[in-house]
Amino acid sequence: MEENLCASLTNKKFLEKYELVQPTPLGKGAFASVYWVRDVKTKEDWAMKVVDKNHLSLEDGELQAIRWEAEAQMLCHEPGVVELRESFEVSDGGDLDKGFIYMAMEMCKGGELFDRIMEKSCYTELDAILVVRSIAKALANCHVHSVVHLDLKPENVLYVDKEGEPDGESVKLCDFGISRTMDPDHPAGGELTADGHCAPDGRLHGTPGYIAPEMINQEPFDGKCDVWQLGVMAYILISGIPPFEEPQHLEGTPEGMEAMFEYIKAGDYFPFDEYQPMGKEANPWEVCSKDARDFVKKCLIPSTKDRPSMKELLVHPWIANDTTRVAAAREKVINPTKTRLRKMMMRAKLQKGIRHCIIVNRLNKAATAFAAKPANMKYSEMQAAVATN
Ligand code: ADP
Ligand code: MG
Repeated sequence: MEENLCASLTNKKFLEKYELVQPTPLGKGAFASVYWVRDVKTKEDWAMKVVDKNHLSLEDGELQAIRWEAEAQMLCHEPGVVELRESFEVSDGGDLDKGFIYMAMEMCKGGELFDRIMEKSCYTELDAILVVRSIAKALANCHVHSVVHLDLKPENVLYVDKEGEPDGESVKLCDFGISRTMDPDHPAGGELTADGHCAPDGRLHGTPGYIAPEMINQEPFDGKCDVWQLGVMAYILISGIPPFEEPQHLEGTPEGMEAMFEYIKAGDYFPFDEYQPMGKEANPWEVCSKDARDFVKKCLIPSTKDRPSMKELLVHPWIANDTTRVAAAREKVINPTKTRLRKMMMRAKLQKGIRHCIIVNRLNKAATAFAAKPANMKYSEMQAAVATN
């Protein structure tokens, strides 16, 4: 796939406007590679995401999803989101479903969140707060534009510059690849329910450990999925371990994932006080403020009714910009978290990213029915079928 993507950067349409600065990609995802390119006229640097359409499945709606990705990123034009300058497609032999999709984005020279944390000689609670605050703000704005991101994880948070701002405002959200909209006039990315939520589609989208309970249950969902994922991310940023994992003896098996989904549905994350320190290491949950635990607890409430919205979360004391709290958080050093994060990051890089998986063997009635749902069946018809069964 890599060679193919490189070839796409010698394509005539691409070369009319851009040149490749560096052949090694800035980053890679499940479907795409992102390259450092330069505008031949303005000499400005851009990050070019290239997707090989030949690797996408039409039946699974993957191609449509990538086209929507560009649209969603455009809709969420605001400082906390990586800017999308333009997107264009090149077709292969006149076949619109073959060839490449290009997305020219604002170049984030600072790299991924994990890498930056690794470079810090002293990692504190404040570092985690600043990232979570910026991303919460960005997501709250996406929600104002009726877009839900659904793929929040550290790999999708980038730093604009190497140096970074002291207030942490230089992190940005990228990768709208599985996002959905709740705008009835613009229902791209998937169906809406009668009351304006995103309708489930029989699949789980995103990275398994980050998927919200309502999606596992195949219930209608909204921006509260992003709140859940922000909670997972905050948990990881503080402790360096994921809140939900497959039981060790079942790791990598369908049963392992099923078991993890059960923990997620129950909101049964690894308890703060059962953190297992290595040697003399302190429990980061005890080092950090009580507010940190409260923040994570609120985000990881399984019931969407009781879970706060992103807007409500913005005023949570943990991320509120209070001078006294900020000064205290700066003193809370959680360096051992870095070692754990490094391990997690290496594992995440090894595990191939997935965009969605179809639910099989689910105990849940609606979800089982969904797995057998004909592709053209509407959500409302599906509901009626489940109700009468
Ligand atoms: P995928 O949808 O395949 O996961 P992403 O959009 O997340 O693709 O991009 C993959 C990786 O490329 C990111 O994790 C990041 O390392 C890098 N990347 C993405 N966008 C940019 C950008 N604007 N500037 C610099 N690097 C980027
Ligand atoms: Mg990504």
